[in-house]
Amino acid sequence: MPKLGYPANGLEPIISAETIEYHYGKHLQTYVTNLANLTKGTEYEQREVEDIVAAAPDGGIYNNAGQVLNHTLYFTQFTAAGQGKAPEGRLAELINRDFGSLDELKRQMEDAAISLFGSGWAWLSLSPDGKLVITKESNAGNPLRQGNKPLLCIDVWEHAYYIDYRNRRADHVKSLWQIIDWQVVAGRL
Ligand code: MN
Repeated sequence: MPKLGYPANGLEPIISAETIEYHYGKHLQTYVTNLANLTKGTEYEQREVEDIVAAAPDGGIYNNAGQVLNHTLYFTQFTAAGQGKAPEGRLAELINRDFGSLDELKRQMEDAAISLFGSGWAWLSLSPDGKLVITKESNAGNPLRQGNKPLLCIDVWEHAYYIDYRNRRADHVKSLWQIIDWQVVAGRL
């Protein structure tokens, strides 16, 4: 389990303590436990989760490793509302070069997250040729699978927002910008 840099209520009112208790404490814990059980005695038992996501065939090990990695990136990219600084340095340069502005990046991420059909993730990642790209992934998908470096993600499985926002996925997605820690995102470059 990744360690959180905030208490369970530290992301309120954007993400409630109750959602952290269920999403982090129960959903993620289940993926971690399942991955440990499924890999026991296999060639994947001692491998890094990134390696498993990149290499495992479609199936239970891949699905659980994907969800462990995705949620680790997700829960560690947040900070208390209003505490995150705007993108700086190389990250800011790449955003301006590839999207024109931070607002345009946000708009395209929101579009990806809101229009994704069913369960999955919207991703900002860095392609092998150094370009920022936004993609949609179903279920446990991670851009690593295509050779991209994952930087920022939005979880649109209903468990991510149903306690706090019910069916209003768009409201949840648009609120998340208030708790993104762009220094964490820049560190992933
Ligand atoms: Mn989730």
